[in-house]
Amino acid sequence: MTVRLVIFGRQGAGKGTQCVNIVNTYGVAHISTGDMLRAAVAAGTEMGLKAKEVMDSGGLVGDDIINGIVADRLTEPDASGPGFVLDGYPRTQPQAEALLENLRSDDYSLDAVINLNVPLDEVTARMKSRGRADDTDEAIARRLELYEQETRPVLDFFEEQGLLVTVDGLGSEEEVSSRLIAAINEHL
Ligand code: ADP
Repeated sequence: MTVRLVIFGRQGAGKGTQCVNIVNTYGVAHISTGDMLRAAVAAGTEMGLKAKEVMDSGGLVGDDIINGIVADRLTEPDASGPGFVLDGYPRTQPQAEALLENLRSDDYSLDAVINLNVPLDEVTARMKSRGRADDTDEAIARRLELYEQETRPVLDFFEEQGLLVTVDGLGSEEEVSSRLIAAINEHL
């Protein structure tokens, strides 16, 4: 069985932890565009050098570049066989359309797009209690604001496609994980 998922969640929603649980449950490839870009930066590739500037300035890497990276990654055996959970992609409307088009050309669709939902005041409190150097009140507010601006329209798009599944992200890691897996199983 091939499982094709996208996961959305605000920073502090526990997306990283839950991606690990999804990977362990379904054996899918975890495809994080942020991780792939950081790897390209570390390797000093031409694409990495360009991406670094954009990432450092807090912007988004161009849709064409990102779409190309993800399309290539999806053809690798660990993703094309068992499937994948996409994390950090798609992040714009053109990316969402490119992803669906890419899958459609192989006669596939997504099984589900998960919105790991944790209220704003809760993620704010979680980030503040992490005490990370880049978690100043201002930086937290900025990142959460960008999430609303950039990501909300993509969630609405997937909702229109009938793919969006919202999962309550409040509770212990185990509680959230069983809720999440149950919600995914309903869509397989
Ligand atoms: P964060 O959740 O803090 O934004 P990520 O690891 O997902 O962290 O991404 C880090 C950076 O990589 C982003 O700020 C952006 O510059 C770039 N990036 C990641 N994914 C995408 C994407 N799908 N489209 C454009 N840029 C992206």
